[in-house]
Parts: sequence; structure tokens; C-alpha cells
Amino acid sequence: MTNPTHLTIYNPANGNQITTLPITTPTEIQEKFQKLQIGQKIWGAKKPEERLAIIQSFGVLVQSHIDELAKTLTQETGKPITQSYNEIRGAHNRIDHLTKEGLSWLSEEIMITDPLTEKIVYEALGVVANISAWNFPYNVGYNVFLYALFAGNAVMYKPSEFATLTGQKITNLLYEAGVPENVFQCIIGGGATGQALLDLPLDGYFFTGSHATGQKIAQVIAPRLVPLQLELGGKDPLYVMDDIQDIKQAAINAAEGAFYNAGQSCCAVERIYVHEKIYPEFLHYFIDEVRSYVIGDPMDPSTFIGPLTRKAQRQVLLNQIEDAISKGGILEAGGKIPQNNGHYFEPTVISHAHHEMTLMQEESFGPIIGLQRVRSDEEAMKWMQDTPYGLTAAVFSQDKERALQVLAQMNTGTVYWNCCDRVSPNLPWSGRKNSGLGSTLSHQGIRAFVQPKAYHLRG
Ligand code: NAD
Repeated sequence: MTNPTHLTIYNPANGNQITTLPITTPTEIQEKFQKLQIGQKIWGAKKPEERLAIIQSFGVLVQSHIDELAKTLTQETGKPITQSYNEIRGAHNRIDHLTKEGLSWLSEEIMITDPLTEKIVYEALGVVANISAWNFPYNVGYNVFLYALFAGNAVMYKPSEFATLTGQKITNLLYEAGVPENVFQCIIGGGATGQALLDLPLDGYFFTGSHATGQKIAQVIAPRLVPLQLELGGKDPLYVMDDIQDIKQAAINAAEGAFYNAGQSCCAVERIYVHEKIYPEFLHYFIDEVRSYVIGDPMDPSTFIGPLTRKAQRQVLLNQIEDAISKGGILEAGGKIPQNNGHYFEPTVISHAHHEMTLMQEESFGPIIGLQRVRSDEEAMKWMQDTPYGLTAAVFSQDKERALQVLAQMNTGTVYWNCCDRVSPNLPWSGRKNSGLGSTLSHQGIRAFVQPKAYHLRG
């Protein structure tokens, strides 16, 4: 909870207070902004090679501090410790990709040389805001601030109030790696502090978080005509076709896609459609798998399901369960809040799900899933597309062509065949409809952090 001057950080595994931190005041925000305006000019004038070298040093420092960083991430978010290590190690693939490809993305492009020279030069935007989420602070943070820095911008970084200690550690390691303090500044606080950033005349806004907040930010920023990028929530479907050979393995993979990080991934599987021919068997294996999950202390390496980061989300899940059961859903596993002081929620499976239920319509962002029986690919497609979101969609099938026919119809930024819940630095990460605006990652994503200048040079 916040008070006007301090942010209190709690451990979601036991509800204990970890620490309190002073919230960055509006005056301090203004001072930081002025500092960044000065620093950006020098940083932006450096060669991309120099900026890349500093980012690479940051990557090395993160890996050498991984034990401490993973512990902090687990303590403040409740993410199981093995998943904290996975995230921090995995996020490094952004740096590897920048190292391999990044310099070519920022090089000038000569289009013609006769009868005059026409070329494109990519310039940094200037000072940009990165307002971030807590669920994968390394992944979603790197997607924005590393690419922004690489492109020559200065960054006003506001980690989520639920991942602030991680945000501070990231900031200190960037400084240690050689990013000047007047190029990267961390802002401490919750929603009101994020809102204060909107009052600044920044050169770009990059937001990762919920659709509701993204929309509020868009309403403030849109009239200013500066770049605004939104990476928002999802209600991502998975369709399991009847030709699957190994139904048990498909169920295990689907459950992992739904329950990894207690379902708190933007691209978690949030609803499952199963062909009626394999529905009973799939459901059986799926429930078995979910019941086998180890729930407990997130610091214990054997834990797969830790507490939820945000206590309040438990009421959202209880409401979805109550609504689903009242409309004919069958509670196959979980459904309750365990009796302890942490923010735990039992991994929950509801069968006989259908689209009158909020469970199949609204982002759950927790360890809960609905399974719906379908009779055909056409029916599956109809339900998969019945959503205001457009982040990802997945199909499990033996038949690539059949899967691709379904995936081609999806109005989502990402589609998966025989995999799910994954992000790659090689590919653009983008949401459609209520899932966002613009994309990060890959050669496409870097364009968000630069503006092209067209040169017409005669003589
Ligand atoms: P949130 O919207 O509550 O908060 C996100 C950030 O915005 C936080 O830093 C918060 O302090 C700040 N904020 C809140 N109100 C603000 C305001 N009025 N003005 C400016 N800033 C404000 O979201 P969250 O709970 O941190 O994250 C969970 C959501 O993020 C889920 O919906 C999830 O799907 C989504 N998400 C999307 C992606 C993606 O890549 N598409 C990645 C991670 C998370």
C-alpha cells in the first residue's frame, strides 16, 4: 500500500513488510527530466557500438549477480525461485540478439545515388518514459529500456510498484556498466507517480500493463502526437485438435502454458478449446497434471506455484469461479484461497466452460483456466475470435496445414503451432485490439525507438 510519501513493499508469500521507499516527488521528477535532456544529447551522439558495449557489460553484470537478483525478484513478486532464474537468464537473449543484429538496424540506408543521393538516417526520439509491469520485469523491461538506450534515447524508467526493488537493482547495474546517470533514471511509486510522468513533455511513452491503464494513458498522450506504444493484456486461446497423438503430453504442455508464474503472464494460455473426440481424455490428463503441481514457498526450488503478486487479484478469480459455476461450469480442481498469510490461490480448472462466463471473456491473470468442448475447427475458430483482445493464439495438432488455416484467421500479433506462452527476440512482439499498439523486439521493434530522417542530397 502507498501513502503520500512512501511506498511499502510486501512479500506476497507471507504478507510481511520488506521495506519502505520514498516515492519520487513531482519536483524530483522534473529535476530528473532536466538531467536526462542534457544527458541524452551526449548519449545519442555516441556511436551505436559504444552504447552496445555498455549494454553487453550490463548483461554480464546481471549474470554475475543472478543469485541476489533472483532472490529479490522472488521476495517482492512471489515468483518461484526457479522461474526467477529462468526469467533473468532468458531475458539475456535480447542482449545476444542486439549484439548479433542491432548495429545493422541503426545504420543509415542509402536508397539511390544517382541522379542524387537519397538516404534514411535513424535518429533517437529523445527522452522517453518506460512505465512497466511487475510480472516479468526483466523481459518486459529489457524489451523497452535496452532497445531505447541502444537507439540513443535517455529513459525515465518507472518499474511497477510491485517490482520496485528489482527496478532499483537494474538501475544500479546499468550505472555500473557505464550508462550515465543523466541517461537513465528510475522513478519510485505507483499509479499516481506514473501519471505524473504523463505531465512531462517527453518524446515517447512506452507502457506495459493492463488495458485499463493503457487506455487512460492513451487518452492523455494521444493529443500530443508523440510516439506512444502500449503492450497490454490478453485472453489468449489454445485449441487442441483431435489429431493429437500424445494427448497426455499435450495436456502437460497446455497446463504449463496456463499455470507458469501462476498464470501471471501476458501471453499465458487463458482459455482452452478441445475437440470433442479427445476432450474427456485431455481433461483427465490436464487435471492430473494440475493436481501434481507443488504449491508453496516461492524460495523453495521445488515450488511451481507461488503466491499471486497482487492480493486483490484473488477476488477477481473468486468472482470468475462463482460466475462460471452458476452458469454450468464444473470445478475440477482448486477454487479456493488456502488458509495462510500469503497471497496464494489454488490452481483451478473449470470444465464445461462457455462464452457466457467471464472466465472465458475477461483476463484472469491468475492460476485458473476454463476448458470448452468444440465439435469442429470452425466452431473453435468462432470462439477463439470471440474476444476484445488480440495478443496470441495457439493450436496443438499433428497437421501443420490444418493448424495454419486456423492461425491465419486469428487477429492476434502472435500465433503458435505446438507451442505457447513464449516470446522471441527474433520476432516482433505486438498486440492487436485491446492488447496494444505498436511492437517491440526484432528489427521491427527497434523502429519504435527511432525516427527516420530522409536526406535528399544533390551535388
Ligand atoms: P497496471 O496497468 O496496473 O500497471 C502498469 C504500470 O502502470 C505500473 O508501473 C503502474 O504503477 C502504472 N500506472 C498505473 N496507473 C497509471 C496511470 N494512471 N498513469 C500512468 N501509469 C500508471 O498493470 P500491472 O498489474 O503492472 O500488469 C499486469 C498487466 O500487464 C496484465 O494485464 C498483463 O497482461 C499486462 N502485460 C502485458 C505485457 C505485454 O507484453 N503485452 C507484458 C506484461 C504484462
